[in-house]
Amino acid sequence: MMTITEDCIACNACVDECPQTAIYNAGIDYELNGVVTPPLSEDHPYVVGSLCDDCKSCTEVCPVDAIVEA
Ligand code: SF4
Ligand code: SF4
Repeated sequence: MMTITEDCIACNACVDECPQTAIYNAGIDYELNGVVTPPLSEDHPYVVGSLCDDCKSCTEVCPVDAIVEA
C-alpha cells in the first residue's frame, strides 16, 4: 500500500487519479465497510491503505514524489 508523506504540497492531483478511490481529501471522513472514520490527515490528501492495490497511478502525477510505499 502507498502513503502520502509530509512532502505533500496538497495540490490534490492524486485524488482523482486513483482508480480505487483510495485517496481522500484532507479533513474528509472516509467510509469503509459501513463504518465512517475521521480523516487520517487534516493537512493533505491521505491514502486508505486497505483500499489501495498498489497500482502506482498516483505516483505518476505527484509533482513532489510525496507518495511512497508504506
Ligand atoms: S497506488 Fe493506485 S490504488 Fe493505491 S492510492 Fe495510488 S492510485 Fe490509488
Ligand atoms: S499529487 Fe502529491 S503533492 Fe499533490 S496532493 Fe497528491 S501527494 Fe500531495
